Amino acid sequence: MSIAAFARRIELQTRPIHPETEAALQKRWAELPEHARTPEQLLGKCAVGCEGTHGVFPKCNLTCSPCYHSADANKVRIDGDHTVTEVTKQMALLRQIRGPRAHAQLIGGEVSLLPPKAHRDTLKAMRAVGREPMSMTHGDFDYDYLLDVVLDDDGKPAFEKVSFAAHFDSLMRGRRGAVRPRSEAELNPFREKFAEMFIDLKKQTGVKSYLAHNMTVTPTNLDEVEQVTRDVLGMRYDMMSFQPAAFIGDDRRWKENFEEVTIDAVWDRIEAGAGQKLPHKAVQFGDPRCNRHTVGVMVDGRFASVLDADEPKDIAARDRFLKHYGGMIFGDIPRWALTVKVIRAILSHPQDLPPLIGLMSRIVKRGGGLRAVIRAARKGKVSFKTFVVHNFMDAEQVKPAWDMMKKGIVSDDPKLKETQERLGACMYAMSHPETGELVPACAQHSVLDPIENIGLRTLLPLEPKGERRTGISNGKVDELVTDGSRW
Ligand code: SF4
Repeated sequence: MSIAAFARRIELQTRPIHPETEAALQKRWAELPEHARTPEQLLGKCAVGCEGTHGVFPKCNLTCSPCYHSADANKVRIDGDHTVTEVTKQMALLRQIRGPRAHAQLIGGEVSLLPPKAHRDTLKAMRAVGREPMSMTHGDFDYDYLLDVVLDDDGKPAFEKVSFAAHFDSLMRGRRGAVRPRSEAELNPFREKFAEMFIDLKKQTGVKSYLAHNMTVTPTNLDEVEQVTRDVLGMRYDMMSFQPAAFIGDDRRWKENFEEVTIDAVWDRIEAGAGQKLPHKAVQFGDPRCNRHTVGVMVDGRFASVLDADEPKDIAARDRFLKHYGGMIFGDIPRWALTVKVIRAILSHPQDLPPLIGLMSRIVKRGGGLRAVIRAARKGKVSFKTFVVHNFMDAEQVKPAWDMMKKGIVSDDPKLKETQERLGACMYAMSHPETGELVPACAQHSVLDPIENIGLRTLLPLEPKGERRTGISNGKVDELVTDGSRW
């Protein structure tokens, strides 16, 4: 490599905002529907949105009500090579359209049914194109599996950091030791155990982790959200994400009327569990009818939001930082490059330092003041926390709305129009290399998953005999049939 080419590479690596990120953000903003182009909108300003995989390992060995998987998802064999190959293709398209950096979920059925090496190779393939992968699991796997995923064949860590989202709620059936939980509280030991695996992982291998706790909410467990929030806040999860149930997927598993579980209803309970208001209006991903989230610092049980829409100085700082630094990539780059990048960013806008210091001092104040923060930090009780509610839509509306959108028709039915608006501002996409399209996850699950599953059943038929696994808890043997029959 010539000196000039080397210099160009270093310049690009340390440029505050990568030109391809800038282009992807501009495209994202231009494609957003008018109603989503609000001051608090983050899509197109600093984020391109989340991504997810599909059509790779639809099988799951738990049974939940509701379940978003297609009715015949369990009739498809788990095949590690297929997953690595297809995810690599999907990620390549996302890299091309969405630029060099995004968060992507390794999602399908149950990720821990993948052979550990295939799981590891898939995460590597996602990272290779700048994706920050998060493995989506029910959390019912053993520490040995985790070790086998994160350690290469030579026993050395394959990653500096891994991200897992574990789904725990009392609507799930078949978890070892909690086959039919009668309450959310019954799952707390399992939530704890899962999080502790990652503390052990750090101690044993040095591999860091980011952990999300996911929970589906229906009328049955809505009132338990408050206590779950309180309990999980005491555990080592970085994010708490709640999904009001929607009528998608296997209709044999729709047992309740989900309509009364709104974002507001869930958020009220999260706030009750956190013991305080959780400001969320300063930032928005996509459509507010789809998502609500807030990020902050937890200081010994007290949540200090990074931004509060009721504080005009926070809003001014938000707008300034989004304008100057939106799209800056911090993850997965060498420390030296990050340092130079940050210095270049500060030097390009030195006038931003006072507002930055002002914002940080307000966050500290919300956390109880400098002394409280220092005291909590000494006890190891300062950490970032994110709260999320993601509100999927019902297949009954998504199917016709998506169909019309594909034909360029705007529905005049109020419900379908709303659905189209939300799909148009979607922040969670899945990639189709065969058509070059990115598809909202709602459309993927409601329209495309069932069709894909038909093809997958032919491509990856089950072994002639179903597999069985057993677990022993409280002296009893829990047995789970995973050959597609109802458990
Ligand atoms: S359209 Fe569906 S997948 Fe996209 S953000 Fe809204 S609820 Fe989520």
